[in-house]
Amino acid sequence: MRLRPGYRIETVIKDLAFDGKAVGAIDGKIIFLDGGLPGEKVQAVVTKSKARFDTGHVTAIIEKGPERIEAPCRHFDICGGCTWQDLDYERQLYYKRKQVVDCLEHLAKLKDIEVAPAIPCDSPFHYRNKMEYSFNRIADGGFVLGLHKRGHYDDIFQLEQCLLPSPAAAAIVLWFQEYVKRSGLKVYDVNIHDGFWRFLMIRESFARNEIMINLITTEVAIPEAGNLAKELTAAFPAIKTIVQNINTLEANIARGEREITLYGPGYIEEEFLGKVFRVYAGTFLQTNSRQAARLYQAAYELLEPKDSDRLLDLYCGIGTIGLCVASQVGEVLGVELEPSAVRSAEENARLNNITNARFMAGLAQDLMREQRKIFEDMNCAIIDPPRAGMHKKALNSLLEIKYPRLVYISCNPSTFARDAALLVETGYKLGRVIPVDMFPHTMHIELVASFTRGI
Ligand code: SAH
Repeated sequence: MRLRPGYRIETVIKDLAFDGKAVGAIDGKIIFLDGGLPGEKVQAVVTKSKARFDTGHVTAIIEKGPERIEAPCRHFDICGGCTWQDLDYERQLYYKRKQVVDCLEHLAKLKDIEVAPAIPCDSPFHYRNKMEYSFNRIADGGFVLGLHKRGHYDDIFQLEQCLLPSPAAAAIVLWFQEYVKRSGLKVYDVNIHDGFWRFLMIRESFARNEIMINLITTEVAIPEAGNLAKELTAAFPAIKTIVQNINTLEANIARGEREITLYGPGYIEEEFLGKVFRVYAGTFLQTNSRQAARLYQAAYELLEPKDSDRLLDLYCGIGTIGLCVASQVGEVLGVELEPSAVRSAEENARLNNITNARFMAGLAQDLMREQRKIFEDMNCAIIDPPRAGMHKKALNSLLEIKYPRLVYISCNPSTFARDAALLVETGYKLGRVIPVDMFPHTMHIELVASFTRGI
């Protein structure tokens, strides 16, 4: 039966689906809902009706379920950030592991795989080392500085509190709300492309207690930038550097065509497993530093590195995975698309006195075909592709090279399941899968998996 959009229903939530949607049913037909937790009786409105399922959103919770807790953040109801803050943390971990199992069973048709319990975050708040806050004009001539409203990519709310960065970083946002008011410069308006202040990005090193401020603006003119640095560092001594990125383009992204260092060295330094990494404004880094170390450790545990190993670190970013294990293997080859990340990886190798690692910039799928010999000289690999998973051509090269040991790190269980199915079909055995919770209070889950094959 097709239901009209706007139709009101009542249902009991049975489960949470892959993308975090609540699963209910109307006369045996599944409905995926925004809002609602398992065990809850809810009232909802249908938004779309398809042949096999409906979608909608919860308008009222009639009976609360046992997994619901009070969300600690005052912005929870409107913020697009932490959609699962009202779900007990243990249950978040349960559903995240289940996502991984479901993807393996349903998408890859792989049953009886050993999926470990998700590795939890010791402290599921104050874990994010990078946050981007947006400036937005509001109707009465004022402005807001904060985060996106849930489901609205162009609407920002005024931040009063955020439990994801450190308390100091959250306080810096409030400081800027005041500072920009007295700066005499206008906040950028995306509709008419006028104004100065666009984004405030704050990056942190938890190991070293260092903060980077990155201001994204349309032109250079910060009034008395020296005074800004003086005031800001006096209020927040952990600030080690302040940079400004000039973005004059209409594309509303927190990156610039030109970067100016206003204070300090232009970078902060973070540590993973005893190694130091330089983090610039544009550097890609796992956003949960403490948990990234655990993710890497889980990967090494599955890899079982040996002195004689020649390890390929595919999709290596700034080299963190290969460099942290370099002392336990013979050599490391990192491959990464972004030339700036490769330069960073080389700098990080020098910084840590690592001499057995080298890096190549380019598309993995092209390099693996054009420079096959270099890849054939490696004997094991850790692969950490972006959300889309491995490019088909890169995966095909991998299947031809046939490394006896592969460790696959994924931030998307569905593309992982797709790639895993092909690896298993062509002779690999999928061993242990370890989910790692990098993003508490969201439905995202990272995982590490080992594949082995006879030579
Ligand atoms: N292993 C790193 C980074 C993982 S994120 C870490 O743990 O920090 C994935 C990385 O793959 C990004 O740095 C991205 O720039 C890179 N990348 C994306 N597509 C690529 C491609 N086709 N070839 C090579 N690198 C790619």
